[in-house]
Amino acid sequence: MTGQTNGPRVLVLANQKGGVGKTTTAINLGTALAAVGEEVLVIDLDPQGNASTGLGVDRKSRTLSTYDVLLGESSLADAIVETVVPRLSIAPSTLDLLGVELEIAGDKDRAFRLKRALAELVAAELHDGRRYDYILIDCPPSLNLLTINALASADAVVVPLQCEFFALEGLSQLLSTVEQVTRTLNPKLSIHGVVLTMYDPRNNLATQVAADVRRFMGDKVYETMIPRNVRVSEAPSHGKPVLLYDLKCQGSQAYLRLASEVIQREKNLRAA
Ligand code: ADP
Ligand code: MG
Repeated sequence: MTGQTNGPRVLVLANQKGGVGKTTTAINLGTALAAVGEEVLVIDLDPQGNASTGLGVDRKSRTLSTYDVLLGESSLADAIVETVVPRLSIAPSTLDLLGVELEIAGDKDRAFRLKRALAELVAAELHDGRRYDYILIDCPPSLNLLTINALASADAVVVPLQCEFFALEGLSQLLSTVEQVTRTLNPKLSIHGVVLTMYDPRNNLATQVAADVRRFMGDKVYETMIPRNVRVSEAPSHGKPVLLYDLKCQGSQAYLRLASEVIQREKNLRAA
């Protein structure tokens, strides 16, 4: 749709803290991007597989997964399945992924397994004419080898952040990991933006932390804040993104705004 010439943009949803909205953002930012015409692939790198479930891919249909891809036993293309969302596919995960770190720990290329699989996918796409505009990688809640594989493959990091006590400490830790990856594994990696999630303007601590994060990160923080919204948390149990579950709710509308900010940043980057 965007007519990119340089292949897909690979964005990784990372934050070593659990429960901050990484998976919810992978699902719903992915859906919002697809809704405005982008071709999107989600790569589920969390053994919990919540992105897969939340996009309507049940465990029985996950015959090949990111586990097989990281072990080199499947191509990424073969692991990809369609979701309930048009133009949005997913490479699902299974609990096997819990063991992958041990299985590849001794290999020299252990940090580059995903990067290689992605390069093959992008090359193959050129043949059959299908190309993704955006690839979103959902990470587990830790800075482990899975997250390192994601960071080594990505163009940029999207950081979902919940406005609570210690949010800035966690952010600093993540930023220093990203810096380290930039120095050692992936020089092109940058921070795409920080998205404030589950935001409740009636909570004084949250408004204070949001202001601190904006002071610290400047315009890296997306203007859009994702509100705490019960429809967002209900949607996964229906195997649907919130945009399919209740398009009019505040959560859906916020993810649509976030998608247009992401696209705008991409346009600015390409024009620069
Ligand atoms: P992570 O992937 O970082 O561990 P999740 O995306 O799984 O975090 O979110 C953690 C929990 O918070 C989930 O139960 C999810 O449904 C809920 N949640 C996420 N975003 C929102 C929101 N905007 N409003 C309400 N609940 C949310
Ligand atoms: Mg998650």
